[in-house]
Amino acid sequence: MKSVSVRFAPSPTGPLHMGGVRTALYNYLFAKKHHGTFVLRIEDTDRKRFVPGTEDYIKASLNWCGMQWDEGPGIEGTYGPYRQSERTALYKEYALQLINSGHAYYAFDTPEEIDAMRKRLETEKSGNPQYDSQTRMGMTNSLTMTESEVSQRLNAGEAFVVRIKIPENQEVAVSDLVRGEVTVNSRLLDDKVLFKSDGMPTYHLANVVDDHLMNITHVIRGEEWLPSAPLHVLLYRFLGWEESMPQFAHLPLLLKPDGHGKLSKRDGDRMGFPVFPLEWKDPASGEVAAGYRETGYFPEAFVNMLALLGWNPGTEQEIFSMKELTEAFSLERVSKAGARFDPEKAKWFNHQYLQQKPVEDIAVQFQALLKEQGQLPAKEKVVKITSLLKERVNFVHELWEEGSFFFQPPAIYDEKFAKKKWKADTPDTLLRLAEKLLPIETFDLDNIENALHSFMEESGTGAGKIMPGLRLALVGAGRGPDLKEVMVVLGKDEVIRRIKRAVEYIPVNE
Ligand code: GLU
Repeated sequence: MKSVSVRFAPSPTGPLHMGGVRTALYNYLFAKKHHGTFVLRIEDTDRKRFVPGTEDYIKASLNWCGMQWDEGPGIEGTYGPYRQSERTALYKEYALQLINSGHAYYAFDTPEEIDAMRKRLETEKSGNPQYDSQTRMGMTNSLTMTESEVSQRLNAGEAFVVRIKIPENQEVAVSDLVRGEVTVNSRLLDDKVLFKSDGMPTYHLANVVDDHLMNITHVIRGEEWLPSAPLHVLLYRFLGWEESMPQFAHLPLLLKPDGHGKLSKRDGDRMGFPVFPLEWKDPASGEVAAGYRETGYFPEAFVNMLALLGWNPGTEQEIFSMKELTEAFSLERVSKAGARFDPEKAKWFNHQYLQQKPVEDIAVQFQALLKEQGQLPAKEKVVKITSLLKERVNFVHELWEEGSFFFQPPAIYDEKFAKKKWKADTPDTLLRLAEKLLPIETFDLDNIENALHSFMEESGTGAGKIMPGLRLALVGAGRGPDLKEVMVVLGKDEVIRRIKRAVEYIPVNE
């Protein structure tokens, strides 16, 4: 048996959508699982839609996700070059082969003529308004012209396209590893353009030729290409390559969070989640689109989340490393139904990875953020604070949002909470507590605990009367980690200073 070889074949027409990353991931996992080859091929034959910078963006995205390709632009393997624009001579040869064997033909129709044909068919409501086996004999092409007229036009340098000659009435079967066998009657297919007079092939020809020449064994790609698969099967047949045709697996769509329709950039903008792996700045408009990386996702969490959008392991397990995914992955467990994207679940994955990571590693990232805020605390302090906060956050940057009070006194005191908990006697109670804390020499958990206890006993005040006000004074809000831990980190002087400050600033509720 041939060893497995798959390709991820994006077109550099814009940034890679997370659906595209998922396609790359399934290809990668399948290749790794079978000890095969993962090829990156850049399908850049459509020069009109070319967007500069996207190839680099695609590569950077794959790198960020940890999906190293075995062959591709920059890593020339056996079958390069891997950019289709560098392979154009090859496609021409196969276009000619198809013409010579009677499976393709030259067409000289102007866009106006094609338009007129479509309009006529639309008004007559007879058949599909397309260039196909029903209409081609009424058009300007090498099937309706003499050989000499065709050569005359070609020699005169007239614009032409090469179209596939789809058989009139044939069942074309596509066998798909996800969907089973799908059969289409060729009558429904149009005579797609394969090659243009600018010397460029279209996607269909280039894709089939390259998959064959690159010895691709499995074509794993998005569902939007399923309608093209019968055409591709015919091309393999006409080029004499049907025996070694790759197997197809068309992946389900990623759906909007409400489950209705395809996930789009607009959904992300509207609901506040990225649809791109990395931030992308549109070179034409300058518009910046959010990326998972910049939003604070760990690549492992992003990959893990994507893997489960359309594939399931058949068990309850949700957290998978790339290695575990590689072992567990199979195309048989890819679902036919679209996969609904849940932005909350995406955050949940990041939360899980954040909890799993060594606290020292998170602290290093947090320290970098603190530096941006002009804070330069000692490493041990950052580690301590990170360990107190990490359960409460999904992203590293939220450590600052949740824990800025560790580094600076509260800028505001939560008004709603103050209204409820800052009573007439709170200032006095807290000032007396401050006095009780003052003599403590070693300001640690035990000593703080003891001081609080004896204060409560002596003053006859319950914890409910002390702790919320104290929290408000130290944190500025009614939330946050264990207050005694907070006190230890802040230190005695700062705790007392914050109590006095709060007493001064927070208005008393009578
Ligand atoms: N260039 C196509 C795309 O960007 C590839 C489709 C395929 O994998 O065959 O989606």
